[in-house]
Amino acid sequence: MVKESNAPVFTLYGEEIDIWSPPYKEYHSKHTIDYIIEKILESEKAGVDIFPSVVGKRKEKELVKNALLSNSPILFKGRKGYGKTTFSKAIAQLLPTKLLAVKGCKIHDDPTRPSCFSCRKRLLESNRVELTWIPRIWVRIPGDPMLTSRQLIGGISIQKIREGYELDHPEVFIPGRALKANRGVGYFDELGAVPSSLQTLLHEFFEEHQVTTMEGDIVPFKIDTLELASTNPANYRGTSPIKEPLLDRMEEIEIGPPETLEEEIEIGLRNTFYATRSGETPKIPPWHQEILARTVRYARDKERFADARRIESEPSCRATIKLFDHVLSKALRSGRRTPLLSDYGEFNEIVKLALVGRMEVEFGFVDKKEEIVDKLLEEALKQTCKEIYNQLSSEKFREFYDALRACGTPSDGRQALSVRMELVPKLRKYRVINQYVRAISRDDALEDDYYLSTVEIILESMLHCAPRLVDKKDFTYYLGELVENEA
Ligand SMILES: [Zn+2]
Repeated sequence: MVKESNAPVFTLYGEEIDIWSPPYKEYHSKHTIDYIIEKILESEKAGVDIFPSVVGKRKEKELVKNALLSNSPILFKGRKGYGKTTFSKAIAQLLPTKLLAVKGCKIHDDPTRPSCFSCRKRLLESNRVELTWIPRIWVRIPGDPMLTSRQLIGGISIQKIREGYELDHPEVFIPGRALKANRGVGYFDELGAVPSSLQTLLHEFFEEHQVTTMEGDIVPFKIDTLELASTNPANYRGTSPIKEPLLDRMEEIEIGPPETLEEEIEIGLRNTFYATRSGETPKIPPWHQEILARTVRYARDKERFADARRIESEPSCRATIKLFDHVLSKALRSGRRTPLLSDYGEFNEIVKLALVGRMEVEFGFVDKKEEIVDKLLEEALKQTCKEIYNQLSSEKFREFYDALRACGTPSDGRQALSVRMELVPKLRKYRVINQYVRAISRDDALEDDYYLSTVEIILESMLHCAPRLVDKKDFTYYLGELVENEA
């Protein structure tokens, strides 16, 4: 351990610095877990959520905080797409955004607690040691049956030996991914897929933060890493391939699907391509959000829906995200920013694009996959329309209905309203239509395409809930004359 009294002169980008002075003091000499414990305790006092990037999951967040305070590695267990990786990154975000490290060190050593030979030697023997800032560390270590100990722990550089270095020279050892996670988070993605011989090496790593190579040589590095791991039980039949002694060293926390529709939607909106690219929330009206997110959720609801019982591997939040993405893209291709029902595709093919590949069905139902999607979508549409219909005021309904009819074109004794942008200027002329639209859209500054989408969902909800008033064919609604007392 290097102390102020025995330290060499440290330089940062060429300038001498006092690493024990305020601007630098926080960024070295501390253990990874200490930064995390501090953040957790601070947040408990202030009563704030320290994992804002994880939507919902209140219970899981409590368990994670507790496990971290006890310095236990965590194993996130759950199906793909429910945010195990997001959670591990949220934990890494408790670490400082940057740290001071010895420049050139392959495992970004702490200037006061060097781990590798090369840094130890340099700090002992040199008068000046150059430092650098390193960004926050989160290293993914993918579980792969082909993973080698060289990739995981490290190995000897034959190149360096050819160049004439001795075997025990510091330059000769090349650290693997687990060692590169030094001073940050090492995320073992699919721990069960790590070959069992390597899992044995990990016992020691998780407990002692030190490793031994397959040949039995101790790698004399003391690594300061927070270990997190994930496992997807759906990948395995029977027993989990994670070895018992390794499981014994970790706290298992289940990560399931979002609990509520609102959370499902929030995850979907945050992660669309549009949102991640532009930083803005995409303009998907709430009814489309609900229809699409519900379709995914119904596919997981085996109790309520017979069709869901045919699904063996359920669609995750990625399905919701991609549904939002694809429907937005389809709208964009038609020159709109707000989707319409027609953007689901003539045969719901845009919805199927996001869903069909993301679910697996029982043997014998493989060719019924699309049919299952159609049915679940229909249920989701029905439910959403019911809620919209219940919000329609009955007070001026007759006036509203007549105004809608006045905007249509005559067709076989009825008035046809085709859902197109050209319809909007006509609709806007009627105060009563504007009132109904505002009540449903919950948006004052309505752009034309959003306005049209609102009118469309009102018509669609009338079609579902008052079928004698409205008929539909090829995205055109037909409104008959209202008989007395019918409204
Ligand atoms: Zn080093």
